[in-house]
Amino acid sequence: MNTCHTTHPPDRSLSGLQPAFRAAVTQLLALHPDAAVHEAHRTDARQACVRAAGSSWVTRSLHQDGWAVDIHFRTAPHFPPRSDPRWGRLIATAARLGIDNGYTLWGTDTNHFQASPALRQGRWRPVALPAPTPDPSTSSPTLTPACRTALQSQLDLHSALWHDLRQSESSLAQVRQQLHQGNEALRTLLKTK
Ligand SMILES: [Zn+2]
Repeated sequence: MNTCHTTHPPDRSLSGLQPAFRAAVTQLLALHPDAAVHEAHRTDARQACVRAAGSSWVTRSLHQDGWAVDIHFRTAPHFPPRSDPRWGRLIATAARLGIDNGYTLWGTDTNHFQASPALRQGRWRPVALPAPTPDPSTSSPTLTPACRTALQSQLDLHSALWHDLRQSESSLAQVRQQLHQGNEALRTLLKTK
C-alpha cells in the first residue's frame, strides 16, 4: 500500500461531489448494489501525493473538483479486470446517467468514472433508464464487418494516442483533441445498427 493512503486517506463520501454528479452517482449505486465508492472528492494535497507516487499522471484531476469517483465492488474480486462482466454493466448504466468511464475515455482506469462534459456544463438531459443491461456474456450483439473494422481502427488509434500521451506531455492538448474526436466518432458508430 502506498504511503498516500496513510498520509492523505481517500474520501469515500459523496458529500464533496458536485450536486448534479452526486445525484447521478447515487442513482448508479442504487442500480448496482454491488458497486461502492472507493474514492470521491480528492484534496489538492492528496492529488500531489498520488501523482508523486505514480498512480496519477495529471496535476489537475476531476476528483479535485468533485466531478469524479473511483469504484470497487463489495464482493471479491473487488478490483476485477476489465473483462469482468460487472464492469460492462456498470459502464453501460453510467453512460445513460451522463457519466463517462476511464477505460472508455482513454483505455485504462476501468474503475474511474467522471461526469461527462454535458453533465458538467449543465447540458445533460436524462435518458430513459434501463431495463437492466443484459449480461454481455449471454447477449449476442451484432456488428457489421464494416463497423467492426472501423471500431478496430479506432481502437488502434487510441492505443497509438495513448502511447503518444505517455511519451510527450507537450503534445497533451493535441492528443486530447484527437482522443475527443475519436470518441465522438466511436459514439456515432455505436449508435449505428
Ligand atoms: Zn479516478
